[in-house]
Amino acid sequence: MKTKTIALPQLNQIRPTVESTAIKIMEETGELAAAIARFKGYGGIQIDTRDRRELAKDCARELLDVAQTAITMMFVLEEQYGIDVETVVSEHVEKLISKGYLGL
Ligand SMILES: [Mg+2]
Repeated sequence: MKTKTIALPQLNQIRPTVESTAIKIMEETGELAAAIARFKGYGGIQIDTRDRRELAKDCARELLDVAQTAITMMFVLEEQYGIDVETVVSEHVEKLISKGYLGL
């Protein structure tokens, strides 16, 4: 099974909640959609004329913003609600296998 591991920090200068991180995920998802639109030109938005690699890198940056916010919510769920993230990750992988998205 091929994986990609990205270690993102717990933010220690903010006091996130489930609600604030949910809103932030939506905000960052919108920014990712805008970056993809500039890169690929969909939804009536014309392709940006800047360097293609730089536009793709913008997408990666916005994707990391989404990931950071998701990780921040994971910390909230773990620390404020006792969710065992490792167990949830294992269940997630099992779900991917059962849906046929992942073969071992
Ligand atoms: Mg962003």
